[in-house]
Amino acid sequence: MLPASQSAPANLAAVQQRIVAAAQAAKRDLASVHLVAVTKTFGADHILPVLEAGHRVYGENRVQEAKGKWPALRQRFPGIELHLIGPLQSNKAREAVDLFDAIHTIDRPKIAQALALEMAKQGKRLKLFIEVNTGEEPQKAGVLPKEAAGLLRLCREELELDIAGLMCIPPLDEEAAVHFAFLAKLGQELGLKELSMGMSADFETAVAFGATYVRVGSQIFGSRTAQPPR
Ligand SMILES: *Cc1c(COP(=O)(O)O)cnc(C)c1O
Repeated sequence: MLPASQSAPANLAAVQQRIVAAAQAAKRDLASVHLVAVTKTFGADHILPVLEAGHRVYGENRVQEAKGKWPALRQRFPGIELHLIGPLQSNKAREAVDLFDAIHTIDRPKIAQALALEMAKQGKRLKLFIEVNTGEEPQKAGVLPKEAAGLLRLCREELELDIAGLMCIPPLDEEAAVHFAFLAKLGQELGLKELSMGMSADFETAVAFGATYVRVGSQIFGSRTAQPPR
């Protein structure tokens, strides 16, 4: 077997093929489905082969970790699009706006306010998603479904934030399809176009339910040996 870093480009190609097939099966335009390659816990040695293979859209779930590896990679490879897919603290908003092109995890007014302020200061518009706790799990990040409309209204009307879509991480022990269908319906009701949903285990199902951003890590880079961030 090849070391994980050498098999990553082949894994990427396989994931892309499966996305093509899932989009075709769902009669969806392939151009509407974006693959976010999730690089958390992996160093530049693992990421480089995938960059060299031409992939440009990546996801990290911690600001600090992203700061340690992506600025140097951005200098070497033009056109990188970096997505924050993990929880954000408001005291990290400045760094997050500086580092990332998209943030998937807005789930409370304080974060929305901090991002609005920083984007204005830095003169930068990021692509933004509201994270919805579709399983209503007590420990989990995300706004409760019934509070999503209120948070969206605050973002749009008071903060003039342009929210692109919704994001969810379904409960581990439940059927993901139910949550993807729910998020798609909520997005439609709220008039939001983008849906960030689907990971290694279920990205094809997510595409079937309308995902426009799937976030795939281990299926491309191998299993994470380091302690996975929550
Ligand atoms: C780690 C992570 C992923 C990717 O998970 P895999 O199962 O490795 O594909 C997707 N989304 C979020 C929010 C993550 O933290």
